[in-house]
Amino acid sequence: MSVIASVIDKVKQMDPGQHEFHQAVTEVMETLEPTVDRHPEFVKGGIYERIVEPERSVIFRVPWVDDKGEVVVNRGFRVQFNNAIGPFKGGIRFHPSVNLSIIKFLGFEQIFKNSLTTLPMGGGKGGSDFDPKGKSDGEIMRFCQAFMRELFRHIGPETDVPAGDIGVGGREIGYMFGYYKKIRNDHTGVLTGKCLEHGGSLIRPEATGYGVVYFAAEMLARRGLDFKNQIVAVSGSGNVAQYAIEKVNQMGGRAISVCDSSSTVIDEQGIDRDKCCYIMELKNVRRGRVSEYASKYQSICVEGKNVWDVIREQGIKVDIALPCATQNELDAQNAQALVDNGCICVAEGANMPSTPEAVKIFQDNNILYGPGKAANAGGVATSGLEMSQNSLKLSWTREEVDNRLLLIMKSIHKSCLDAAAAYGKEGDYVVGANIAGFVKVAKAMLSYGV
Ligand code: GLU
Repeated sequence: MSVIASVIDKVKQMDPGQHEFHQAVTEVMETLEPTVDRHPEFVKGGIYERIVEPERSVIFRVPWVDDKGEVVVNRGFRVQFNNAIGPFKGGIRFHPSVNLSIIKFLGFEQIFKNSLTTLPMGGGKGGSDFDPKGKSDGEIMRFCQAFMRELFRHIGPETDVPAGDIGVGGREIGYMFGYYKKIRNDHTGVLTGKCLEHGGSLIRPEATGYGVVYFAAEMLARRGLDFKNQIVAVSGSGNVAQYAIEKVNQMGGRAISVCDSSSTVIDEQGIDRDKCCYIMELKNVRRGRVSEYASKYQSICVEGKNVWDVIREQGIKVDIALPCATQNELDAQNAQALVDNGCICVAEGANMPSTPEAVKIFQDNNILYGPGKAANAGGVATSGLEMSQNSLKLSWTREEVDNRLLLIMKSIHKSCLDAAAAYGKEGDYVVGANIAGFVKVAKAMLSYGV
């Protein structure tokens, strides 16, 4: 059995039931096969076995008091996966689906994503099964404080620097940072995604969405194409989807969809600037549901289905797909429908939104397919820029951060293509992203000895 196959096998045996983690490990490790012959030192140094095992996983109790005065207990996680090239770095997710498998898959992906950004950041991820939906502001604050009451002892500006993810935005980061600052008595860059007033970076909220569109634009340019007049399907309605839509509009494309856990909205006229501002106000300020969009603007609203199901069922033509909601949201059936209807490009704003079968369909049909760890790396890259600004004790202008983000996305795109070509897989962004991200981390791990 090859070293890769035995590593995948061992992970499955040691961690039964961790399906998302197995999926991510299998997807990455299988594409690393060509590195085995090229780098016998990686095999000798046990790198393949070591990279799939987190440095440590912390699981903790999060007790808090709800508005009725009752004690609620949630479970908290922080997986510190790999710090070979820099402090552990990765978001915190608050969602009822969160479990160890999901946090490990996200932390594992983060190793390669962060390596691709060119910045010195290791991989980690955290979260809780806490459901922010329907919670009052006071409940969110008390939960964030309770979460930080335990997390603080595991993190630090040179140790582990969390940020946001699904269910964690500027408000939650503010509550967590405020609490950390109080109990540690220091004001450091221990979290990113902070508000501007207390050390955040301009463009951080926009970065993931903008970055996905920058990455897709690079892919399209290889075929002499751009966003002008392209019909773009976007899933999700959080900050990734919102700013992807904003950037699509700026680049002359027409974004036609959003969704949340309750429904999908399709607006074939296009979600223009004003409608996009409406969605931002609806989701970020009023914390409402996307179905409200349909009562304001003429559009289709389908309850209980995601964007990709609705597009397939209604035979809607899409040129570019930007899945920005969550893992495994886009399956084989919906991938095939996108391909059959002439889709040319898929760039992932979410982490692992396409199932392995869907990815295969995109690749077999020569679709420009940008995997999440490359296409959505703009978010964590700008977190890295926030860390740089915090260390320098100064802040850069919007233009400066945006330019750096654009350059980083171009560089990630080039690294993917260069690595793919160097390992005989010309134009394959999946192989390119995984190998480019991996080789840097593997060399750093080797240099430290065992
Ligand atoms: N949650 C984002 C991601 O998946 C950002 C992480 C960060 O900024 O540390 O990459």
